[in-house]
Order: sequence, then C-alpha cells, then structure tokens
Amino acid sequence: KAKPLTDLQIATEAVMQPIGEIAKKAGIPEEAVEPYGRYKAKIDIDKLPVSKKNGKVVLVSATSPTPAGEGKSTVTVGLADALSKLGEKSMIALREPSLGPVMGIKGGAAGGGYAQVLPMEEINLHFNGDIHAITTANNALSAMIDNHLHQGNALNIDPRRITWKRVLDMNDRALRHVTVGLGGPAQGVPREDGFDITVASEIMAVFCLSTSLTDLKERISQIVIGYTYDKEAVTVRDLGVEGALTLLLKEAFKPNLVQTIEGTPALIHGGPFANIAHGCNSLIATNTARQLADIVVTEAGFGSDLGAEKFMDIKARIGGFSPDAIVLVTTIRALKMHGGVAKTDLNAENVQAVKDGIANLDKHIETVRAFGVEPVIALNRFITDSHDELQFVLSHCKEKGVRAALTDVWGQGGEGGIELAKHVLSLLEEPNQFAPLYDVEQPVLEKITTIVQKVYGGKGVILTDKARKDLLAIESNGWDILPICMAKTQYSFSDDPKKLGRPEDFTITIREIIPKLGAGFLVCLTGDIMTMPGLPKKPAALSMDVDDKGNAIGLM
Ligand code: ADP
Repeated sequence: KAKPLTDLQIATEAVMQPIGEIAKKAGIPEEAVEPYGRYKAKIDIDKLPVSKKNGKVVLVSATSPTPAGEGKSTVTVGLADALSKLGEKSMIALREPSLGPVMGIKGGAAGGGYAQVLPMEEINLHFNGDIHAITTANNALSAMIDNHLHQGNALNIDPRRITWKRVLDMNDRALRHVTVGLGGPAQGVPREDGFDITVASEIMAVFCLSTSLTDLKERISQIVIGYTYDKEAVTVRDLGVEGALTLLLKEAFKPNLVQTIEGTPALIHGGPFANIAHGCNSLIATNTARQLADIVVTEAGFGSDLGAEKFMDIKARIGGFSPDAIVLVTTIRALKMHGGVAKTDLNAENVQAVKDGIANLDKHIETVRAFGVEPVIALNRFITDSHDELQFVLSHCKEKGVRAALTDVWGQGGEGGIELAKHVLSLLEEPNQFAPLYDVEQPVLEKITTIVQKVYGGKGVILTDKARKDLLAIESNGWDILPICMAKTQYSFSDDPKKLGRPEDFTITIREIIPKLGAGFLVCLTGDIMTMPGLPKKPAALSMDVDDKGNAIGLM
C-alpha cells in the first residue's frame, strides 16, 4: 500500500483561492483587506461593516496530550469544513504557530492531512511577522529598562528585582539565565537577566486579551517590570513607553485571514502556549469571526485542564461571551498511552489498554460539564486503530450519555467530520449554563484550590516559601482580585508529567506566583514547568531543508 502523503505534500498540492475570494466569502469588504502576498491578508477591523451578528463559539479541546498526538488543530479545521459542507456560515479562529515547537519536537500547528490551513509553510514559518513584532516590543521594553538604569535610574529601580525578561521565539535553554551589561561603565549596568520564549511573554498575553488598540495600550501601561529599592512596583507607565510599544504592535494587531484546503475562511492570530500562558488565539480575532460568521470554531491549547480552563476562566470572562459547545478530541493511541502502553507499541491492537486509559477522557468530560457546558467527543481516527478499540470508546461514551463521533477529517477533510458537525449543531440548539468556575473576588488560594480540585481532580495545593511570599506581596498590593493562569505540565492532571491517565490523591505545588497586571491574571508556576523550553536530542530541524527552488522539505 502506498505511503500516505505528508502534511506538507498535501498542502503543497492543494489549490488555493486568491485571498480576495476568501474575504468575499467571509463577508469582508475589499477596503478592509490588506493582502500579504496572494494567499494571506490582514484585516483592518475598523473598516468592517457594523454587524449585530454574534456567532456561536465552538471550542475544541482534548484529552491530556501524549507524544502520540491528539489532533486538535486538525479537528478544528475539519469541523469548520464539515459545517461549511452542511451549509453553515462557519469560520475558524486559531493560534499562530511558534517556531519553538516547529523546530523542536511537536512540529507546526496548521492542522494535518486534508484538514489544514494554507499556506501551511508560511503559516508555520514567520507568518505575517506578528510574533516577530511581539518579540520586538518585548525586547524594546528590556532595552528601555536597561537604558533607564544606565542613564541615572531616576525611578530607583533595583536591578536585582527586575522581573521583565527578554524573549526569543525559539527553544533555547542556554538563554534561560544570562548576565547583561558587562564590559565596563559605557556598556550599561550589569545585572542578571533571562530569556523566555515569546509565546510566554506578557506582551503576547496582552495582545491576545485586548479588545482594541486603546485597550492594548492601557494594558501595556499596567505591566509591572520590577520593583524599586523600596519594593514599590515599577510599571511601563512609569517608564513612559506604552505608546512606543503599542506603535510597534499596531500592524500585528490586525487579524490574519487565510483559508483551509476546502476554502473555509480562517483567522489565525496570536499564539500563547497553554502550559505556560493562557493558550488561546486573540480575542480580537475571535470577536471579528463572531461578527462575520454564524459559527466560530476555535481551539485552546493542550487538554481541557489547561487551554479550555483558561479559555473559560480568563478569555471568555474578559471577552464577555460563553462557549456554546466544546469538542473533546481524543485518539485510541493517546488512550492507550494513558493506559500504560509505550509509544513504540502503539500500533498493536490493545483493547484492554484503551479501557485502562479511558479514565483520562472521563475526567475531561467531567471538567467540561463542571463549567456547565456539554461536550462532544471527536474520536480522531488513525489508520492503525482497530474496530474493537474504536467500538469500545464509542459505546463507553454512549453509556455515559455523551455525544461522540468517529472523525476522519485527517483522511477525508470536511466529509470525515459530518457526523461530528451534526452533533455540534444539535448541541448549539440547546441552552447551556456556562459559568466560570470561580469568582475573581475569592481569595487567591481558594481560586487555585478550586482549579486543582474541580479541574485536575487533586486534593489540594501546597505553596513553597517563595510562593507564600509572592502571595503576601500580591495581597498587600491589592492585586489579588484577578483570575489565575496556571503554568503546569500538559501531560498530566498533576504537576508530575509521568502521572498519566487519571491520577488521584495528589497535591499541586506552587513554586512562584507572578502578577501579570497587563494581561490581568496571576501566573502560578507548578512543578518543573519552564518558560523557556529546550530542544530535544533530535530536533525536528534535523529533518528540514529547502530545495534550490525554495520549496520547503520536512516541515511537519
Ligand atoms: P494538536 O493540535 O492536538 O497538537 P495537530 O492537529 O497539530 O494536533 O496534529 C498533530 C499531528 O498529528 C499532525 O502532524 C497531524 O498531521 C497528525 N494527525 C492528526 N490527526 C491524525 C490522524 N487521524 N491520522 C494521522 N495523523 C494525524
């Protein structure tokens, strides 16, 4: 049997429509379209007609990720294509891929098989430059801080208490801790600094949660960059650079329009990770899509314990909308890994392992229901899945009274997602009782404990001495009335990536609580989670190349 085509081969062979055609289909007038080449455009939302439309939001989440892959982006794209096939006016709102995973281990984020957004190559590599703009704005702030120290330090900033870090959109562990300002008095003030990956930057979070340029500027001005010798917070407003930083972001802030292989319009904009940041595409893109389409299919990173929880407790709260349906993607391969099978043995049939691993899916179903929303399970079919394995999961869902559809958008595009789309449509007819899990007015520890108990299924929370100190400072500054953004491993409900399936009786250790006043949340670092990832022994970059005509090779 012939080897299936790679994502890149399928994407390269697909015939794209000029972006103006896609804009027309989406109801975007010509004057609002700013083409970036033939197949990509930025949308000037100020030039969109006033719309009373308030498209419904379908959120795609998943079971806890395993190295076997779940296929959230793939199902997001395929579901929107299936809805289009059924005559629904649908639109996609996705995150922009980061070069960290592209060059590292996970690969790109443009979907897969026949459910992809195009041009796949450009979306995965630099796209329209938004992430570079965000990197630049972040690092411009670092430059302003160091210059302020050098020029006399009128704000009395303690160089040892600067919390703002530089960023780079790459996995580069060697930059986690650096010293800057070496070389004598003319080269600045020496201090310890460090790099995060751009998608963990507060600028990225602010970019994704702002509703307008004015809101973006206001949020940027509130960012705390560090503390004075008297331990007073220093903000971007104190440095007076919020205008300059917003100016650097003004073009990037316009949502990017592309298309799926089947011609469904997609907005791809903003891309925070879901394990170390809030994991959702920009609010401005989601809102724009809701103005244009009846159904917006969007995705939040990793499992429902991370991206979906933050979508509901942070993004939906700030955006003032509710998810109307949630799709939980799972695969036989992932469930087998949760049932204890090694990655190398995933191709062999093993119904027992699927049974052992299904507890992970069950917990995600419970979590979604805890928010008052009903899930639909998308069982993303792989060619290695056996009939009995698939049947077991489908009948299990039936027993639990949860809608489920065998989905093959990877192999068949929208056609393979029709059953899923019909389930989603039936759910959209029903009212839901969506509510965030906690009230922001609750004490910080209570909010964290709610997430740990209701979303992760853990016993409780332990704060290290450092986290306890952070909490006291947050409370005394009056910053405690903010939502929580947990930074936790994506692999487990617990803070130990090795505890797969559905761990019980565990506690979550918080080692640091970082106030992000621009984004408007408190980041809680758990376990060994790193805000600058490293590369694996054999990075994806080793398989990449470009031929003499400029065609990409080996992009995943
Ligand atoms: P996620 O969004 O959950 O990280 P993606 O949709 O990006 O996952 O998919 C990850 C990888 O798995 C992609 O390379 C994609 O082509 C592949 N993939 C997804 N679904 C399938 C499937 N049903 N069969 C084979 N490969 C798949």
